[in-house]
Amino acid sequence: MQRLLVPRLISQRLASGLTRRTFARWYQDMMMESHLHLVTALLLTVAVMALVELVFDQSTPGFTRIGWLALLSGAVLIAVKALRNYFFFMMCAEQVANQAVCGRCGVYGRLRLVREMGQQCDVACKRCAFEWSIREPRDD
Ligand SMILES: [Zn+2]
Repeated sequence: MQRLLVPRLISQRLASGLTRRTFARWYQDMMMESHLHLVTALLLTVAVMALVELVFDQSTPGFTRIGWLALLSGAVLIAVKALRNYFFFMMCAEQVANQAVCGRCGVYGRLRLVREMGQQCDVACKRCAFEWSIREPRDD
């Protein structure tokens, strides 16, 4: 079930990011996307608070309150999904970044893509050409 909810795209994103740009730019893009989800969650939280006030407003007709309640339910679901995506992208970026240190010379983030294989990317150090695999974070 978890795999259906979380598409395994991190290794694909890393591969295309390393092909087109640098690791640092890929990491920056992941942070940007992660924080966009956080901003979305925060804005929706404000909307949820306003909708809660509208739902419990005694002067609002019942039929209108049901409409606000439906909107409130949708806003809560989207906010939870956005918050979940924030943590997902943040944790994935951190886990991949922890694997971006060259095992031979110790340089961080100077990678080139060798090949992408499913949920891992084989990369090589741009300084010393040492090769290793960066594995996509797992759900469990
Ligand atoms: Zn190296």
